[in-house]
Amino acid sequence: MSLVFLTTIILLCWMTFMITLERFFPYTKGMKFFREGWWLDMVWYTLIQSYFLKILIFDYVIAPSEHALGMAESGYLSHWPIWALVLFFLITHDLYIYWFHRWQHNSKILWRTHEAHHSVKTVDWLAGSRSHVLEIIINQTIEFAPIIFLLDVETAAVVVPIKALLDAMWGMWIHANIDAKTGKLQYFINGPEMHQWHHANHQEVFYANYATKFAFFDWIFGTGFLPGLKPLKHQFFKPREFGLPYEYPRDYFMQHWFSFWRFDVKKVENLPGLKPYIEWQNTLTGWIGKIITHSGNADSSSSQTSRTEP
Ligand SMILES: [Zn+2]
Ligand SMILES: [Zn+2]
Repeated sequence: MSLVFLTTIILLCWMTFMITLERFFPYTKGMKFFREGWWLDMVWYTLIQSYFLKILIFDYVIAPSEHALGMAESGYLSHWPIWALVLFFLITHDLYIYWFHRWQHNSKILWRTHEAHHSVKTVDWLAGSRSHVLEIIINQTIEFAPIIFLLDVETAAVVVPIKALLDAMWGMWIHANIDAKTGKLQYFINGPEMHQWHHANHQEVFYANYATKFAFFDWIFGTGFLPGLKPLKHQFFKPREFGLPYEYPRDYFMQHWFSFWRFDVKKVENLPGLKPYIEWQNTLTGWIGKIITHSGNADSSSSQTSRTEP
């Protein structure tokens, strides 16, 4: 069995596990499984965008750079055990992500590459997939280039899929609509508790909780926010609203266009030629959701389960 096949199976099992936990222990109660933008995140960001960006990043950015720099087959760190390599690249990349993410929130230009990620109004296991093309190209090149540069081909062929699997699993976990209560672990490891707050449309968290795997970077650099953890106090313990404090397009191409050129979203989305095109994605997922809900439960309107998932 190839490692890529194995990691795909593990990822699908993890996805099922996350969806099951969301159903039984929801952070925000009443959230629909097929929420607004589900189709956009699954089809455009998860399947189509990641497929093409993987080819672009590995074959057209990292590989030519490796040859240009004369680092092909350097294998400087190949003698390290796999677990040490994975841990090393996890920690160093998360430190980079902390600072770059912080910069994205503090720079008007870089914010344009990150606002798509914050546009999800319903944060769930799939929400983390919504990231601007440029954000993925920058972050994944910086993530995987050192692995390819510093390891021989055989070792990199093991470390890359393991690292990619952990990224995907962790991305689902921190965004999942799960009422996790990991207590003091939130000083060290990120979970939904801190990252759900990062997605809140609340003034006090616009500049907080930047780390994605290791929460200690936020606590060390003074940007940690989690009501309930001492010494923080807050008037309420969960966000009341998620997403952006301004109008944002609902379509994949318009979201990217909006990052380069601001336009009146409502006006453009209501143009006679565009309106049906914009509406069809949500209509389609709405139909799928309704079909599954009604086939599973005839009296779905009054059931607790139907309010969290179909
Ligand atoms: Zn952010
Ligand atoms: Zn996020």
